[in-house]
Amino acid sequence: MRVLDVVRGGVLCGVAATVLWLERRRQARSYVESPAVHISRNLAFAGIAAATVHALEAPVVMPVARLVERRRWGLVQAVPAPAWLRGLAAMLLLDYTLYLWHRLAHRAPWLWRFHLVHHVDLDLDATTGLRFHAGELAASVPWRAAQVIVIGVTPATLALWQSLTLACVLFHHSNTRLSGRTERWLSRVLATPGMHAVHHSIDPAQLHSNFSSGLAIWDWLHGTARLDADPRAVTVGVVGHLDEPTRLPAALRLPFETGSNRPPLPPVEPLHA
Ligand SMILES: [Zn+2]
Repeated sequence: MRVLDVVRGGVLCGVAATVLWLERRRQARSYVESPAVHISRNLAFAGIAAATVHALEAPVVMPVARLVERRRWGLVQAVPAPAWLRGLAAMLLLDYTLYLWHRLAHRAPWLWRFHLVHHVDLDLDATTGLRFHAGELAASVPWRAAQVIVIGVTPATLALWQSLTLACVLFHHSNTRLSGRTERWLSRVLATPGMHAVHHSIDPAQLHSNFSSGLAIWDWLHGTARLDADPRAVTVGVVGHLDEPTRLPAALRLPFETGSNRPPLPPVEPLHA
């Protein structure tokens, strides 16, 4: 476990440093807000999110994963294969079910109210990937526990997947312009900054596309992948929340607003082929 912790930390630091370097060298969009204000607010969100995960998710999901390992519960534990192959299959299924959770967050009105807080950011960069409302993270705890039990995820696999997913989230939220060729090839396999910029567009048809967090293959399989918009020209945000940046206290209150301030339902999702 100790070697794994070092690998996880090393991968995360390496990806974070690369993403910061890419954002400086190959910025895709100019900032609407002051970058310092935008980044400070999102880092405050990250602090609240980390505390929520520490207080609510870790005490539930890790013990569940230990139980799964002891009792050999779940789909992949039933497969007679080497442990590394079962771990790989578990990570693939975790990534796929995270894609399904993201689709649900855009469909279920009560969940969209929380996920909206992530989308109302007027600028999109790596720090947006850390900007999630505590309510959305709390709501995902039963889903995560179900993922672990049904798939059969061990603690080591869960920890590795969480680190890899965080690295992918920092990368695909980054304000980075890859070359057209790199974007085209990489987006066949991995969620790229270009793909995810389209997901943060104010256009409802684009908002309901490119849901993948790690591998992009889930979008390709479900017909929700879109590469037909220029990520540099995308207007980031959600209609109704574009006039001024949603500041931290207002963003924290947003899911609970009532009356005329109540957030609207998610924009209608167009039918995908
Ligand atoms: Zn989304």
